[in-house]
Amino acid sequence: AIELSERVGRVQPSPTMAVTARAAEMRAAGHDIIGLGAGEPDFDTPEHISAAAIQAIHDGQTRYTPVDGTPALKQAIQAKFKRDNGLEYDANQILVSTGAKQSLYNLFMAVMSPGDEVVIPAPYWVSYPDMALLADGVPRIVEADQSQRFKISAEQLEAAITDRTRVVVLNSPSNPTGTAYTRAEFEALGEVLRRHPDILIASDDIYEPILWMDEPFCNIAMACPDLAERTVVVNGVSKSYAMTGWRIGYAAGPANVIGAMKKIQSQSTSNASSISQAASVEALNGDQGVIGPMVKAFRERHDFVVERLNAMKGVSCIAGDGTFYAYPDVSEAMAAIDGIDTDTALAEYLISEANVALVPGTAFGLSGHARISFATSMENLEKAMDRLEKVFGRE
Ligand code: PLP
Repeated sequence: AIELSERVGRVQPSPTMAVTARAAEMRAAGHDIIGLGAGEPDFDTPEHISAAAIQAIHDGQTRYTPVDGTPALKQAIQAKFKRDNGLEYDANQILVSTGAKQSLYNLFMAVMSPGDEVVIPAPYWVSYPDMALLADGVPRIVEADQSQRFKISAEQLEAAITDRTRVVVLNSPSNPTGTAYTRAEFEALGEVLRRHPDILIASDDIYEPILWMDEPFCNIAMACPDLAERTVVVNGVSKSYAMTGWRIGYAAGPANVIGAMKKIQSQSTSNASSISQAASVEALNGDQGVIGPMVKAFRERHDFVVERLNAMKGVSCIAGDGTFYAYPDVSEAMAAIDGIDTDTALAEYLISEANVALVPGTAFGLSGHARISFATSMENLEKAMDRLEKVFGRE
């Protein structure tokens, strides 16, 4: 066999793969598996956004665009930041990518040198550590458990920073926990970061509008305006507008960092799809009323799922602030089942015994948990909760 790179050997196959593969196998064998693993809204892209894409095709917007995005989309992004976040950026501070995922990958590739460290709070989105590793970096994982609503403290952040720290990643509201930092919590983290002027902050705001906490959305650049000049805000249309397949994300931040990210993108993929960019202009500039009903549905499902989970024996789930995920502690429930001693084993057991597929917490860096996506119908959720309750029993 052809020898593979040292680089590719650094990243592990995802621990979620076993469960996903098992679920697919069982489905193929005719079992009625309910999937609670989805990382995307179950809604269709709003009609006016799709119509803008069709119009773009007919208008001949089918050629390469500038690497960093069409002027129309960059203007829409500038207007979005001003409207929703009170943040102002010049055009050369904005980069449009093929998903927020590519923006983040560009970011790591642009600022990391071998051995540089990235502070990643756990539970984390699965890709952060692997992206850091692919960029020759070293992930420094900071664990925040359920008792702290899965949010790191200023003390924890300070303790994790070394003279090799290049980037701190913040994701709020969070995948997989659904919790969000308050403005006061961002201010406390900001105080620490102020003492370390060489650190770049990556703020992953991809779930921004899917939020129902008592206070309005905030990120570190909004809470600490003096830190905005070394914060790269990453966002996109995937989750807010049910547009995961369109693959449009964007980043805004210091011009030199954005310029370096653009350079990397220019030598890997060039511009994101011209048609998807046209659709995203309509998403950002058009009727924002399409978001509310989706968020309302997510919240109703959240309330239902959290209540049902907490009524199960050995399961404890805190209420989230947003997103479409719940991250219950299943360690006691797990211990009560013979032969199950990891959350990965539990996830496999639940597929076979309850025909419910969910993602084990280990995948997100905090074990003893499971991630449940409620981006599926209430009918599916009711069935899934009945099935889980049958396995765990009632409190
Ligand atoms: N960031 C987080 C926290 C996510 O959960 C996801 C998607 O799952 C992304 C970024 C990437 O989103 P996209 O590449 O679809 O814009």
